[in-house]
Amino acid sequence: MAPRTHWLFGDQLGPHFLDPRHGGPDAHSPVLMIESRSVLRRRRFHRAKAHLVLSAMRHRADELGDRVHYVRAQTYAEGLAEAGAGVGGHRLTVCHPTSRAALDFVTARDEVDVLAARGFLLPRAEFGVWAREHKGDRLRMEGFYRWVRRRHELLMDGDEPAGGTWNLDHDNREPPPRGRPTLEAPAPYSPAEDEIDDEVRHDLDRWERDGEVSFVGRDGPRRFPVTRREALAALRRFVSHRLGDFGRYEDAMLAADPVMSHSLLSVPLNLGLLDPAECVERAERAWRAGEAPLNSVEGFVRQIAGWREYVWQLYWHFGEDYRNRNALRHTAPLPDWFLDLDADAVTANCLSTTLAQVRDTGWTHHIPRLMVLGSRALQDGWNPAAVTDWFHRCFVDGYDWVMLPNVVGMSQYADGGRMTTKPYTSGGAYINKMSDLCAPCAYRPTDRTGERACPYTAGYWAFLHRHRTALSANHRMARAVKGLDRLKDLDQLLDESAQRGGRAP
Ligand SMILES: Cc1cc2nc3c(=O)[nH]c(=O)nc-3n(C[C@H](O)[C@H](O)[C@H](O)COP(=O)(O)OP(=O)(O)OC[C@H]3O[C@@H](n4cnc5c(N)ncnc54)[C@H](O)[C@@H]3O)c2cc1C
Repeated sequence: MAPRTHWLFGDQLGPHFLDPRHGGPDAHSPVLMIESRSVLRRRRFHRAKAHLVLSAMRHRADELGDRVHYVRAQTYAEGLAEAGAGVGGHRLTVCHPTSRAALDFVTARDEVDVLAARGFLLPRAEFGVWAREHKGDRLRMEGFYRWVRRRHELLMDGDEPAGGTWNLDHDNREPPPRGRPTLEAPAPYSPAEDEIDDEVRHDLDRWERDGEVSFVGRDGPRRFPVTRREALAALRRFVSHRLGDFGRYEDAMLAADPVMSHSLLSVPLNLGLLDPAECVERAERAWRAGEAPLNSVEGFVRQIAGWREYVWQLYWHFGEDYRNRNALRHTAPLPDWFLDLDADAVTANCLSTTLAQVRDTGWTHHIPRLMVLGSRALQDGWNPAAVTDWFHRCFVDGYDWVMLPNVVGMSQYADGGRMTTKPYTSGGAYINKMSDLCAPCAYRPTDRTGERACPYTAGYWAFLHRHRTALSANHRMARAVKGLDRLKDLDQLLDESAQRGGRAP
């Protein structure tokens, strides 16, 4: 029997998606790839993100040569029709897609057989078993992460965690070194563009000129890997030169050094060019060889085997309705300066710096995402579904599965605490402690009111006041809420916050 054609989505580009072992596609199957224009037309994505996805797909097609049928179509349905799917018994296989919409689409097609997901550490069914066992408790990342470490024998010495402890977070929360504008870490991997990138840039220019699509953000040299070879080079460079300092300053921010010691691997991971298992195994090998300290290696393993895996599993576990959760009833629209990434319209240095990073690269590390961008949205009561859409469109590593738990749950507390134990937001004091962003700012992190009132400090108290009743029932927030009673200037603070409205702070 002729092998079935295997359909590769644009985030299934690594060799493991074509590996016939363990229930994979037929050996030597012909490959179908569909570049669907309607995906780009529907939403205003960051230009760098559109570039990365198209460049990665076209590079993969180039590698696969005669084996691939590469279809440019308006929609997936049109692409399948053009490829003759279903005609004369022509059947296809596809690995479990990463979004609910795509999964619904492929499962509804009679001619498509859906294979198990790849690119994650655990099958969905195994998470289901773990979640059932922990029913009644809340599903917490820490317990899940320890279970994954045991299950995959990651950083384990027998039955014990390597180094005798599961969690080295207390070593991984240092403020940035004072008086240094950068960490002076070795530079991350930087790819060289080629003629496929030129062709992608040319197409994007043309579609934009023709009014077919519209983007946010600036076009710039490609910063992230789009091929397996580039992805492996980026992983190697990170593990051998940058992993050592990853842990210590993981939560710190420096205006002139946005990347610090972060890995920049989310793009190749989410395009499916790297498998998470190979990333954590390489990091562990570096520790066992004495080439990287345990706090950095544990911190990195925690991000991938813990957070990334947990977020993927929760996306499916929480169900379709999760995207509409709005426990705090936040309804304000996103202001134009935020939607347009207009960093120059913003006075607050932390927000302006972070927004400029997003505008120029489509990337910032997790603390600016959570404690600068997400916190602004939460304090100002922006609609969580619109915030999720914004993150999805503006970040080069944004996909439906990773956005929903990270934004609806972690950043906007719109799920009322299913994912986190408390809302993640803070006054300016936290940003001041963890960065060099406040010193040159026109606002002062200590000021709640007046001309130089920090929008994060004032916004924090206004947020606690607005949700006083709900938050005082949360034992991790009750003390903070009580602090409201000590504020003699609360009325003035609330008046000034109301006057600011959606204006850029
Ligand atoms: C509001 C918000 C939105 C986010 N949106 C995304 C997103 O769209 N795509 C995305 O991949 N990550 C997202 N994250 C998680 C995290 O910020 C990024 O994975 C990370 O900043 C990417 O940079 P890096 O590769 O240098 O990561 P590193 O700091 O080097 O971490 C290593 C890897 O861990 C994984 N990881 C760590 N935390 C998470 C997490 N919470 N969820 C998923 N993976 C994680 C990533 O694959 C990352 O590459 C978001 C976090 C927040 C708070």
